[in-house]
Amino acid sequence: MITTDILIIGAGPTGLFAVFEAGLLKLKCHIIDGLPQPGGQLTELYPKKPIFDIPGYPSVLAGDLVDNLMEQIKQFQPGFTLNEKAETIKKLEDGTFIVTTNKGTEHHAKAIAIAGGLGSFEPRKPLIEDIEFYEDKGVEYFVKDPELFRDKKIVIAGGGDSALDWSIFLADVASHVTLIHRRNEFRGALDSVEKVQELKKAGKIQLITPAEVTGIHGAEKVEALDVEIDGAHQRIETDYFIPLFGLTPKLGAIANWGLEIEKNAIKVNNALDYQTNVEGIYAIGDINTYPGKLKLILCGFHEATLMCQSVYNKLNPGKKYVLKYTTVSGVDGFDGTRKEAEKQVVKAIE
Ligand SMILES: Cc1cc2nc3c(=O)[nH]c(=O)nc-3n(C[C@H](O)[C@H](O)[C@H](O)COP(=O)(O)OP(=O)(O)OC[C@H]3O[C@@H](n4cnc5c(N)ncnc54)[C@H](O)[C@@H]3O)c2cc1C
Repeated sequence: MITTDILIIGAGPTGLFAVFEAGLLKLKCHIIDGLPQPGGQLTELYPKKPIFDIPGYPSVLAGDLVDNLMEQIKQFQPGFTLNEKAETIKKLEDGTFIVTTNKGTEHHAKAIAIAGGLGSFEPRKPLIEDIEFYEDKGVEYFVKDPELFRDKKIVIAGGGDSALDWSIFLADVASHVTLIHRRNEFRGALDSVEKVQELKKAGKIQLITPAEVTGIHGAEKVEALDVEIDGAHQRIETDYFIPLFGLTPKLGAIANWGLEIEKNAIKVNNALDYQTNVEGIYAIGDINTYPGKLKLILCGFHEATLMCQSVYNKLNPGKKYVLKYTTVSGVDGFDGTRKEAEKQVVKAIE
């Protein structure tokens, strides 16, 4: 069982920054995310887009902001349960919680911060009979570990950046890469399309368009696919089928946790600390709602900060909390020079 002070559900920017604010208060965090990597929408939907409204950054690529957040929280050594979705929650008599994921991993925490954004991202699955039977038996909706495909035959389907980028990357890993798309034109970045064409010419990728995978065969695992190419049918032998058709967000199991939900978002007390109707469970970032809510990264950062203060006060009853500037305290508490600096700041304020 994993134990922590604050269990954060969602490794988007809000969840990541919550680790930093909690760390300043010496609270330990563990994060669960259904995706294989941190960053939430920024990593999954727009890693190469510049964001212009992060204070202090005239422009920052979404992917770089995630890298910086990860760097900023490294010092507090948060734990991660990635590629697993928080599914059930149980409140114990002492007010603590046990959250279990869809893969059975149990987490025990003193407080829960749901930073689930638009909900967990579910892969869009192609409409192929029996595809569920082959999931984890040759059908993969994410590339979690490229080494799985080393020296194997793989078929990737899709026309966006994920399908193109993974085809390019895996051309050096797999023994045989086939990319199938139902149109001749791709939606992904032009330079990736050009690279795929180059690899096709070099014989490293087999490109089949316009075409669609219509069936899967194999007794125990994927062995071959039926492909419809411009009206004609062909069978392709393969070890893996990787449909990369994008992800759709769903509130999922969290909707059954007894929380007040309004229009697919969790209602919180924004006058105080972003707590939900269940004491000890907070909701921060895009997933919450309150009058005047704005779904912006900087609002998530603010909400994460107040949530951490509230958890600190709950876990340390009677202990007076004094706001400390990081310029004075640093991130690991006071040292001699910082104490001196603080005195000067206090003097200056007085
Ligand atoms: C194209 C685009 C451009 C944008 N541009 C801007 C911009 O310029 N400025 C700005 O401020 N905002 C922008 N946004 C909005 C911004 O991305 C969101 O406000 C921000 O991502 C919210 O962060 P979050 O951490 O609350 O949620 P998210 O980023 O959505 O992260 C939530 C995470 O929670 C995980 N999760 C959910 N449920 C579960 C569960 N049950 N178990 C495990 N994990 C779970 C998800 O997998 C996800 O990784 C943009 C959004 C898009 C789509």
